[in-house]
Amino acid sequence: MDVNGPKVRKYLKKFIVGPEKKIRLKNYDTDWVQHESFRNQPEGEIKNLLMGVLEKDQNDLFAAQELLAASHQYGILIVLQGMDTAGKDGTIRHVMSGVNPQGCDVHSFKVPGPEDHAHDFLWRYEKVLPERGMIGIFNRSYYEDVLVVHVHPERMEELPKVIGPDSEGFWDGRYKDINAFEKHLVRNGTLVLKFFLHISKDEQKKRLLDRLAHKEKYWKFSVADIAERQYWDDYQVAYEEMLSATSTKYAPWFVVPADHKWMARTVVAEAITSAIDGLNLSYPTFSDDQIKHLMDAKKDLEEE
Ligand code: AMP
Ligand code: MG
Repeated sequence: MDVNGPKVRKYLKKFIVGPEKKIRLKNYDTDWVQHESFRNQPEGEIKNLLMGVLEKDQNDLFAAQELLAASHQYGILIVLQGMDTAGKDGTIRHVMSGVNPQGCDVHSFKVPGPEDHAHDFLWRYEKVLPERGMIGIFNRSYYEDVLVVHVHPERMEELPKVIGPDSEGFWDGRYKDINAFEKHLVRNGTLVLKFFLHISKDEQKKRLLDRLAHKEKYWKFSVADIAERQYWDDYQVAYEEMLSATSTKYAPWFVVPADHKWMARTVVAEAITSAIDGLNLSYPTFSDDQIKHLMDAKKDLEEE
């Protein structure tokens, strides 16, 4: 089977979570090699094909980002979520490897500090949104505020009891706030693309063990990840609820099969390039008058 870019693009819609859909993560493959589209293909072949697509996308993304900057109409917000070891950092490194560093901003969100907790939960993310012409990447995001703190409400800022996590409709309220926030961004010219890197529990175990098998990877290992792994099922439920509530037409979620890093990276790269293509951007045009001014400037420089 010939898996070229356009074909992978066609498959992309399989990963988009439809608005209002009740998501069951069990129905989403973490190992896309099992997918019907690739059935009977040796894994090595699929890998080679997709690596080729990724390489093409890296070049396309370079051009797309330049056009994004030149046209200066839209900004792009890319949200990456996933369990520990899902491959968020690697995806950023590979997908964005060809992009002009000046056109791209990456923000990794860690445990919030006192200043963050002194504000509303969207505050720290709002401060660093991408401006027009830029691609902004959130490595973790405001979605942590309905994921990790949904699993561990005690890690949340202290809110008055009547509006806190035990109050009625609290989580529903947060999803609504997020949807409204994203609607606001989209209405103001920010394209919002959200990726959940979906790995299996077995794959996480392999990756954690791999970090402990190589001295140069020790730094990536955190004992806290083992503690968090005990809550795997609770996280899956929190993810399902969040994905069902916040995948909208204007800001869709992609559930990305992430047990194979090359698969995840290619799907993300394809989704981003095809979304930028969909904006139908063009380089700014110049009137005859403006061109005359430019040519006058050229003449002045040449005759200097
Ligand atoms: P890492 O991305 O592996 O460096 O870890 C960052 C840690 O910060 C993870 O354990 C996240 O769950 C945690 N974190 C990120 N955002 C939040 C948040 N809004 N509230 C609580 N914990 C968070
Ligand atoms: Mg980590």
